[in-house]
Amino acid sequence: MRTCTIEKNKARCNCTYPCSKKGICCECLAYHRSMGELPACYFPPEAEKTYNRSIEYYLKVTGRA
Ligand code: SF4
Repeated sequence: MRTCTIEKNKARCNCTYPCSKKGICCECLAYHRSMGELPACYFPPEAEKTYNRSIEYYLKVTGRA
């Protein structure tokens, strides 16, 4: 049985928001997906700091819109 690698996940997580889901990627993704959003790791550093996790913002900052 695999165990969750929370500490490893935290080490590579770029999210700057103080959040209890940090490192628990399954919960993080499920939360943002339920909101119609993407998690912090999709965003470049400056965009991540705005805490705007919308798909529209992702498309804008990555030049895909
Ligand atoms: S991306 Fe969202 S859910 Fe994930 S750790 Fe950051 S604030 Fe929490």
